[in-house]
Amino acid sequence: MLKKYFLYLIRWQLSTPILAIVLLWLSDMSTLWATVVANLIGGLIFFWVDKFIFKKAYAQTPLWEISDNTKCEDCGAVGRGYRIVEWLDYNRSNDKTPEYRCEKCKDKKMEEVSGKLKKKK
Ligand SMILES: [Zn+2]
Repeated sequence: MLKKYFLYLIRWQLSTPILAIVLLWLSDMSTLWATVVANLIGGLIFFWVDKFIFKKAYAQTPLWEISDNTKCEDCGAVGRGYRIVEWLDYNRSNDKTPEYRCEKCKDKKMEEVSGKLKKKK
């Protein structure tokens, strides 16, 4: 977290030269409008920088959600259900219609998901 914070402070310093250069370049314009243009240019660049700084760490191991009284998507068995919420680039944390699988079918689904994962170090 501290590392991210310092990175963020450095990123803010990087916006200083952009602001300075654009304000000089547009010195004929009113200060207000020159600042608007400078912030627009900064926003176009730093949206991506900020996205990179605050990118979420990937779950290295599967994060499971367990729910009682669910119907298995594969075999229809009713009982305790499991689903993988997050695993590397697989993310179903905002799934509106989560699918659960029984104890027997969850391993097959886990293998299927594992085959689709992009391995990231
Ligand atoms: Zn099942």
